[in-house]
Amino acid sequence: MSTFPFPIPNTSALDQQTQAFPSLTPAQIDRIRPYGKVRAVSAGEILFDVGKDQMPMFVVLSGELEILQPTCSGERRLVKHEPGGFSGEINMISGRRSLAQGRVTEPGEFLEVSRENLRSLIAKDAELSEIFMRAYILRRLALITSGFGDVVLLGSIHCGGTLRLREFLSRNGHPYTYVDLDTDSQAQEILDRFQVSVKEVPVLICRGTKVLRNPTPQEVADCLELNHPVDESQVRDVIVVGGGPSGLAAAVYAASEGLDVLVIETSAPGGQAGSSSKIENYLGFPTGISGSELATRAFNQAQKFGAEVIVAHDVVRLHCDRRPYQIELDNGQKLTTRTVVIASGAQYNKPDIPNRGKFEGTGVYYGATNMEAPLCENEEIIVVGGGNSAGQAVVYLSGFAKHVHMLVRSGQLSESMSRYLIDRIESNPKVSVHYNTEIVAFDGDWHLENVQWRDKATGEVRTCPVRHVFLMTGAVPSTKWLEGCLALDSKGFIITGHDLELANGDGSKWTATRPPYLLETSLPGVFAAGDVRSGNVKRVASAVGEGSISVHLVHRVLAEG
Ligand SMILES: Cc1cc2nc3c(=O)[nH]c(=O)nc-3n(C[C@H](O)[C@H](O)[C@H](O)COP(=O)(O)OP(=O)(O)OC[C@H]3O[C@@H](n4cnc5c(N)ncnc54)[C@H](O)[C@@H]3O)c2cc1C
Repeated sequence: MSTFPFPIPNTSALDQQTQAFPSLTPAQIDRIRPYGKVRAVSAGEILFDVGKDQMPMFVVLSGELEILQPTCSGERRLVKHEPGGFSGEINMISGRRSLAQGRVTEPGEFLEVSRENLRSLIAKDAELSEIFMRAYILRRLALITSGFGDVVLLGSIHCGGTLRLREFLSRNGHPYTYVDLDTDSQAQEILDRFQVSVKEVPVLICRGTKVLRNPTPQEVADCLELNHPVDESQVRDVIVVGGGPSGLAAAVYAASEGLDVLVIETSAPGGQAGSSSKIENYLGFPTGISGSELATRAFNQAQKFGAEVIVAHDVVRLHCDRRPYQIELDNGQKLTTRTVVIASGAQYNKPDIPNRGKFEGTGVYYGATNMEAPLCENEEIIVVGGGNSAGQAVVYLSGFAKHVHMLVRSGQLSESMSRYLIDRIESNPKVSVHYNTEIVAFDGDWHLENVQWRDKATGEVRTCPVRHVFLMTGAVPSTKWLEGCLALDSKGFIITGHDLELANGDGSKWTATRPPYLLETSLPGVFAAGDVRSGNVKRVASAVGEGSISVHLVHRVLAEG
């Protein structure tokens, strides 16, 4: 039995108690015993501390364990575990550092289970796997909702970097406290204390010790040690490039089928889907699911099966002239692998509009999630684009904004837009669709203040006091890093399988005696899945499907020797 003082979203009080902090039955504890060792503990003993990695899990057999976090004014108690309770949250699965301290308050006996043994237990015991995974995910969610982490972010809506870092931390599932410098009366005092100038905002205080001024996501990842050290001498079964839906699906299937898999992701798991407010057409989610939630679930699932994931690192090159292949990262590390799944998807288009770059994150956005939406509260906003992602953004943001202007370059909404979105847009009095229009200028000082758009038919230019613009104007494939290695189509998407025979063979290095498999590129053992593949259908379901199929084909290549 455990008691806890902080709220868990979307659950009743009873659910909170039973699901996040269940009490294990004697029979369940007996099933855990072979994986651990019983140890006597005394009051005041610290079993693990903030910042510690690889800590074991403790099941309380008798006595009591408190979980605490240090604060400016001392410490706060997150939870108290009594007999039947157990320690840990999702970092028991991910292996990331502890966000809390575990201190014995009543002497007794605890069952200590190492992280490796916990993973074996979860793999073998379906009932306990469900109990632990659910509890750990809910506990992490509660930490995120309460902002109980080891990071304080001081930011402002006038600094584009603020939104970038908030998204990075959220999409990596890392809890943080946000201090809004625009509204917090003590902000100046905080800045003075750390001798921070306005130019250095946002500021991230990492683990209460290190002050990072306007850091890159990579610097944040390094400070929080989000990545484990990588063994460069290891030859892996498969490296997956990209942690969007297709890459995460490949990771889940590869790891669950016993392959040694590493995922490398430029930013944080989720890909384009992670920037979607609500995905309503993905099988099994009749009420829809936000892209970030889908990504978090998939990320946890991949880690549960033992997939390694590196975040905040770009793959800059595939060394394809010999096998095993080598993947080069932006820090110069070269990782060797027998097979590769390229799941690097597509990046949003950045239309050529004067001042666009200046206002990225301070009025110009490429995603419409719960990060951007509150900024639009009671404002007139613009969404640019006529496809599915623009339609979804319009529907979602109209719930926050006073009015949404949807600017469509052509004379109609895209044929690929789902009917349910068209119906909602057309029947929404808070939405005006402007066909044959395009933005010609952004204007403002620190933040976007005015937007000019032109009616292409009449040439008339209109200036509107709009502070938030969402550019959802399609995407280009992330394949520049593959230059010279693979056969690409005229738009830069990767040609696979049967289509290779139809391609002109330019850049093709096909050397095997067999024909390429379904998702195989012009390089044997290198597969492409999802939005990066020529002929893909730009849907989460197909990306997930292709990611999982690619693993089936990886097995075949590995069996070839
Ligand atoms: C706003 C929006 C809403 C959408 N809504 C829906 C919807 O409701 N339903 C639906 O079915 N589909 C929807 N889609 C489409 C869907 O999200 C995509 O089809 C899907 O995400 C494709 O998955 P993917 O894994 O192939 O690629 P992506 O999602 O593009 O993921 C690719 C990942 O690879 C990473 N990457 C790229 N290059 C590198 C590199 N060199 N090194 C390391 N990592 C790299 C990227 O950072 C990214 O995380 C939406 C798309 C958007 C943008």
